[in-house]
Amino acid sequence: MGTIVCQVCNETIEHFEGEKVATLYSSCSSCGSEKKNHGQR
Ligand SMILES: [Zn+2]
Repeated sequence: MGTIVCQVCNETIEHFEGEKVATLYSSCSSCGSEKKNHGQR
């Protein structure tokens, strides 16, 4: 099983099925795409 973690606030966003244990980093809806789109929201 894998876990998707928000790289901004470190919260667990989602778990997904997988053969290996893995951690992926993304952004949750709260943090959104703040990093990609500077400013705005
Ligand atoms: Zn977040």
